[in-house]
This record gives sequence, C-alpha cells and structure tokens, in this order.
Amino acid sequence: MADFNRIDDAGDLTGKTALVRVDFNVPMADGKVSDDTRLVSAVDTVNALRGKGAKVALLAHFGRPKGERVPEMSLAPIAPAFAQVIGQPVSFYEDCKGEGAKAAIDALDETGIILLENTRYYKGEEKNDPELAAEMAKLGDIFVSDAFSAAHRAHVSTVGLADHLPAYAGKSMERELDALNAALGAPERPVVAVVGGAKVSSKIDLLKNLVAKVDYLVIGGGMANTFLAARGTDVGKSLCEHDLADTAKEIEVNAKAAGCELVLPVDLVCAKEFAANAPNRICSLPEVEADEMILDAGPATVTRIETVMDAAKTLIWNGPLGAFEIEPFDAATVAAAQAAADRCEKGSLIAVAGGGDTVAALNHAKAADRFTFISTAGGAFLEWMEGKALPGVEALKK
Ligand code: AMP
Repeated sequence: MADFNRIDDAGDLTGKTALVRVDFNVPMADGKVSDDTRLVSAVDTVNALRGKGAKVALLAHFGRPKGERVPEMSLAPIAPAFAQVIGQPVSFYEDCKGEGAKAAIDALDETGIILLENTRYYKGEEKNDPELAAEMAKLGDIFVSDAFSAAHRAHVSTVGLADHLPAYAGKSMERELDALNAALGAPERPVVAVVGGAKVSSKIDLLKNLVAKVDYLVIGGGMANTFLAARGTDVGKSLCEHDLADTAKEIEVNAKAAGCELVLPVDLVCAKEFAANAPNRICSLPEVEADEMILDAGPATVTRIETVMDAAKTLIWNGPLGAFEIEPFDAATVAAAQAAADRCEKGSLIAVAGGGDTVAALNHAKAADRFTFISTAGGAFLEWMEGKALPGVEALKK
C-alpha cells in the first residue's frame, strides 16, 4: 500500500476545521455546471471529515485568473451546485484567507461546509509563497488534499499548507494513489503498458520510464509510425516524427536491456485522407503506399495485444491506438479497450488508465466503467507515468 497519511489516520476531529483542497475546476455552460463528476468525487472526503466531527472549508482554483480577482472565475456558483450534489447546505465566502474567511468558518454549524473563493486570485498561490501559505493555514487545523489532478504543481493549496498543518490525502486522492501504486509502484507482474497517441515527442520521458518498469510496452497511434519508420518501414505520408528515429532506436535498445518486450503494430489500416469513413484498407507493414496514411492498427495487431493482455496481470494505458475520433479508425482502440475491460471483469487483469484523450477514447469504447480505475487527471497522471515525484503527493507522505 502506498505510504501516505489518510483521513482514517486523523483521529477525532470534533471542533476542528479541515482545509480541503478539491478539484472544482468544472466545465460550465450558461453559468451552470455542465459536468459534475468532480463535485461528486469530493463527496466521500467531505463526509468522512464531517463524520469525524470536523467543519470543512473547501479550497479550489477555477480557471487561470493569474493573481487577479476575475469575476467570471469566481467559485461562487459552484457552492449551490455542490450543495445539491452532497445534499447539505454549503456556504460561500469571497476570500480564501483573512479575518472575514475565518469569521465565516467560525459561523458554520458543527460539521458545516463552506467553499472559499478561488485560490488563484492570489499571485502567491502558484508560486507556493510561504507568507500566503501561513495566512491560509490560519483558517484550519488540518490540511486534506483531494486534488490529484493538481498534485504535479507545487502551489500553496497543494503543497505549502502541508508546511503548517498536518496533511492527509482525501478519499479521491487515496483511491487514485492506491490505484497508481497497484499499477506501477508495486504491481502484480507481468505488467503491460499500452501507450498511444499522436507523437513520440510529447511522451519521450514516459516511454523511457516505462521500458525500465514494465514487461511489455504496446506502442500504437501516430507514435508507432515513428518506431516503424526507425525500423525501416516506409510509412508513406503518415504522421511520423522522422527526426526522432534515433530516440525511437534508443528506447528499443533500452527496452531490450531491461527485458521489456516492445509490441508494435504487425498490420495497419491505411487511408488516403484523414476523414471519417475515408476509403481504407488493411495492409501489412511493407505495403504502405507513398500517398497513404496509417490511421489505425489492424486486427492482427489487436489479436497480438489480446495475447499480451492474457499473459499480463496488470495493465496501464495512456493514449489511443489510432485516430479514434474518426470512424472506422477507432476500431483497434475500441477492440483493445473492450478486451482489457473484459479481463478486468473476469478478474484476470488490473487495468488503470488516464491522461487527456485516454478517458475520451475509453468512454467512446464503452469500456471505461469496467476498468479497475480511470484517472481523470491529465498532466499529473502523465508526470506520474513518467516516474516523476509529484510535489502534492510528496507533501502527504509519512
Ligand atoms: P495524444 O494527445 O498524444 O494522446 O494523441 C491523441 C491523438 O492522436 C488523437 O487525437 C488521435 O486522433 C491521434 N492519433 C492517433 N493515432 C493517429 C494516427 N495514426 N495518425 C494521426 N493521428 C493519430
């Protein structure tokens, strides 16, 4: 189990205030929350703290006001939305530090909930300014961090508060860290990583870290073209970073040295235009024509990936295997995602996925809710996959 402080370690909190960093950076349309997933994911944490007797003061950022009081980036409309989600009154105060905020917290009922204004209204937030941290810390007795999606940033509300208050992971953070630890920290082996997406250049650190840690590395999407080209395959007019051929070769050499098997496409789906339902054909590696683009992996590749999934006990996934937004070039991503989800359901595989487009791709495949865990964090998930220590997680360690 990953080693960090949990709410369950916090003891009785009667008469105390928990300052809780949540991710309430929710999508809005016409002044209303259009997707409340992030609000829902804070409920367990807030209720766990209230169950221990604490008042809960929520801290969050909204948008990028860059240290200015930008009215459109106020968290005020989120308080009633969260109240509806949690089924409890949630008050709001127009600042996240100072006497007024303190008085608003004091005025709460025992186990009451308040949302404080956007932490990024202060320039010091994103600089992890120690003075701002000391000021904000005066509002609470303990600090609970529940925003894994912001844990790759060393800000006052993700890191600085832990210098002043006992720091604990909230329930969402806890679920996230336990799942990530199960996938890459101390996983059941063999481990397979599936990495797809557009470009090698955006995932070099990630690929280098993974080859040292996993038993199989499946590479798909546009980035596979760079590896195939480096091996001498003619990829026609496919998306391909020819200038990264040496990097691709180096990653292959590192993989071999570490005992990691690279799984590249063995067949391809090619088309002459990047468009939905463009005429296409399945071809083998040497058959890509000069005016063709590789837009997906072929069925033989999917079968190979399924065989690897059968051999593996743990799977970690980031990035689609093809241009999944345009049919029929979603086929390999959909089939592989469903294959992983089926194995999770059977109990033969622990599958964790995350990062940007991955969630959209797995939702598109109707597989996401059958995975063991889906991280909704983008940058933080990728930095974690790159093997980097996340400051907002380090701050919670025992
Ligand atoms: P990323 O943000 O790096 O995970 O890349 C995701 C994007 O890669 C998606 O928009 C896909 O459409 C795109 N992609 C995946 N495979 C290909 C491909 N073979 N050719 C062009 N784009 C691709």
